[in-house]
Amino acid sequence: MQLKYYQNPESEIRKFYEKNKSYCAMPFKEIYGDNAGRYKLCCHAKKMDWKYTTTNTTPFKFFFSPEMEEIRNKMLSGEKIRECRVCYNLEESGGESYRTDKYRKKYGIDIEPRGIGLKLRINGTFCNLGCYMCHPFNSSTRRNELKEVFGSIEKGFGPAAEVQSMSYREWNDTVNDIIENINLVSYMNITGGEPLQLPGHWKLLDKIPDEHKKHIALSYDTNLTELKWKKWSIFDYVGKFKELRLGVSADHIQRKESWMRYPKDVKKFENNLREAKSIIKQINCSVSLLNVFDLFEIRDYYWDNFGIKTTFMNIVRGPEYLSIKNLNQRDKDMLMKKYENIDDGMYIKNELSLKPTHNLDVMKNYCDRLSKHRNFNWRELWNEFGN
Ligand code: SF4
Repeated sequence: MQLKYYQNPESEIRKFYEKNKSYCAMPFKEIYGDNAGRYKLCCHAKKMDWKYTTTNTTPFKFFFSPEMEEIRNKMLSGEKIRECRVCYNLEESGGESYRTDKYRKKYGIDIEPRGIGLKLRINGTFCNLGCYMCHPFNSSTRRNELKEVFGSIEKGFGPAAEVQSMSYREWNDTVNDIIENINLVSYMNITGGEPLQLPGHWKLLDKIPDEHKKHIALSYDTNLTELKWKKWSIFDYVGKFKELRLGVSADHIQRKESWMRYPKDVKKFENNLREAKSIIKQINCSVSLLNVFDLFEIRDYYWDNFGIKTTFMNIVRGPEYLSIKNLNQRDKDMLMKKYENIDDGMYIKNELSLKPTHNLDVMKNYCDRLSKHRNFNWRELWNEFGN
């Protein structure tokens, strides 16, 4: 494939996407690897059936592999990719998808392998929180809690994907590969575990030569419970990179937040919001049964008290029993109307329009069992489920 770069005007981009129902900028722009060691087309795509893992293949070797080249060629010719069904389903239900909305707006049409982004979970899975909807392979605390409460980490996540820990040699090979190709990198999204508490991530930042830091935009998905780790502080890197922005995970406010993202110290978290405000891009709220009735309250709280906006693009789809699709039709209709005009309303609407798969009792029972383990009863905080 002869790769080209188009600086398209918006009208051309729209036309291109209307005609091509498969092209997505992500396989051209980003290298994504999860904590199970799986390279995927993006964080929303299903896992691919290929031999590459983050432990057996370095990121750029994978990115320039014949298999990735084939995916890109298929997309350019309009052939659909099975693992991208989440986007096609959103589009078929009459809405926009991550492909046609978020990434189209961000990248337009870009088929040149330069300005590549890295979203690689290579620095470990330590996290000090066990959020009630978090995938267990993204948090060590979560795995421990699920094992203690349910005896396994599968609880609704299907056959558990094993965390793929990297050996030091594999991590070192990966980092060397990144540094060798650093001139191609335009952004890095750092995630974890809790990235600000992962030593490997700080060491990776320190290995990037200063002249290259200047052309890299750094972004984080962080729970913002800590801003420093040992000798490292996030503020020491501000000004060294082209940009440094924090996406902060929070799903509710005050006591409800400390239950959903247990055991979050909300007072400390809010102090950190104030201290880091100048580098916070937004709060990312994952929409699930325990917050879907309160999204305006959440949005207004963080805006009025901290001047920080909240997005609702992340929808909890697994474990399925926490999904908002399980609400009764009357609540769904009310919520669709309530959120029809908010920015991320289409993602909420789409999930609400799906058929229920679980009775709400499954969610309640799950929350009861977590509550008992935490000695912190969710039923005292939520009234909307007949508690
Ligand atoms: S089409 Fe959707 S699922 Fe596939 S890579 Fe693009 S954003 Fe991800």
